[in-house]
Amino acid sequence: MSKQTKFQLDENQMPRFWYNLQADLPKALPAVLHPGTLKPVGPDDLAPLFPMALIMQEVSLEREIEIPEPVRDVYRLWRPAPLFRAHRLEKALGTPARIYYKYEGGSPAGSHKPNTAVPQAFFNKEAGVKRLVTETGAGQWGTSLAFAGSLYGLEVEVFQVRVSYDQKPYRRAMMETYGARCIASPSDATVFGRSVLAKNPNHPGSLGIAISEAVELAVQRDDTKYALGSVLNHVLLHQTVIGQEAMEQMRMADVWPDVVVGCTGGGSNFAGIAFPFIGHGLRGGPKPRIVAVEPAACPSLTRGRYAYDFGDSAGMTPLTKMHTLGSQFTPPGFHAGGLRYHGMAPMISHCKELGLLEAVSYNQVECFEAGVLFARNEGIVPAPEANHAVKGAIAEAMRCKREGKAETILFNLCGHGHFDMTAYQKYFAGELTDEHYDESELAMALAGLPSVPEPV
Ligand SMILES: *Cc1c(COP(=O)(O)O)cnc(C)c1O
Repeated sequence: MSKQTKFQLDENQMPRFWYNLQADLPKALPAVLHPGTLKPVGPDDLAPLFPMALIMQEVSLEREIEIPEPVRDVYRLWRPAPLFRAHRLEKALGTPARIYYKYEGGSPAGSHKPNTAVPQAFFNKEAGVKRLVTETGAGQWGTSLAFAGSLYGLEVEVFQVRVSYDQKPYRRAMMETYGARCIASPSDATVFGRSVLAKNPNHPGSLGIAISEAVELAVQRDDTKYALGSVLNHVLLHQTVIGQEAMEQMRMADVWPDVVVGCTGGGSNFAGIAFPFIGHGLRGGPKPRIVAVEPAACPSLTRGRYAYDFGDSAGMTPLTKMHTLGSQFTPPGFHAGGLRYHGMAPMISHCKELGLLEAVSYNQVECFEAGVLFARNEGIVPAPEANHAVKGAIAEAMRCKREGKAETILFNLCGHGHFDMTAYQKYFAGELTDEHYDESELAMALAGLPSVPEPV
């Protein structure tokens, strides 16, 4: 067994294609439905929102989708990303398990999000688009799209969820550094935003509301499209560079994971590390356990219903079948802002239904505790979202210790926490508490799910 700590690929080992799990699924994804007609949508229905190249990726059944050379050129700024063995953390835990982590915090935005922001901006630019509108939770996605937009000369407007706009002023400064415009959501810039503010002028905002505002603005102008940082098939597709590289690096380390762990907000970084392993298993390779970790305060995969729902709060997006807490649900304002989404990627939801992955949830205090232990042994201060993956990996390592098993654990460290130090300050001051969602609000949001006849 190697004592090596860092596994680094060279540039020409960077993936040349994105891996599409849809090609290997034993059962096709349920249809996406038009919000008005409830009939399956075709590519043309999505054309006001996205350029055709991305729509075709969304519905593609091809296993390998080529990464354009200009996109690979930008990826080279931070890819291939390193894989580390967490020797010191293993020792601190006294576990016989081997823990490896893939680190995505070395990108310009400090997370995995530029992996999809760059190709999204690229394909929009190719299609002649001038302006992109989007939403952001914790600010990472807005930052990533602002960065990608600046590379291609695209205007970028970002609706940032109010709580994180207030909690994370540096994120906004970073978006503005890249030339983007940032608006706190709910805002008075849209009809929907004004309707939310009329009911509650102090609304903390949610990703669902911010998505509605961005979509409303995007469909008003022909030169403007919408960009989403997670959830959609093409976004998950772009993130598969993570898992493909990790597979190559596990081969370098001469081991294969027994467990693959990632945190899930909308599901993109988790899909990025997990889908190449799931596909490899479906094609006859070894089948590691695949574990999704979500916050107990926004538990779509563990507590949500698998049903058709809107991706936004205003009901403007197509309906997808997914694990959802209801598009009217507002999660409490806990610190992993990137995990505060009412739904889950349809692809991940589908995999969960097919038994291809498991899900667990943890509270934020235990996740910060795990993140601090990780930082003190491995050096990197994880993003609050990434703390969930760290906690999930540590829980697996402690199980191995109890069972006396030397399993191999791989997790995705999706971003660093340098813009989240307020949350760490609160944790050290003992002011961070476990936020609980309102059970009656959840019941109401679930009761309000759109009724959709089960398509055949
Ligand atoms: C956005 C974000 C997430 C959540 O999004 P996913 O699509 O679930 O990956 C998690 N971690 C970090 C660091 C993020 O920026």
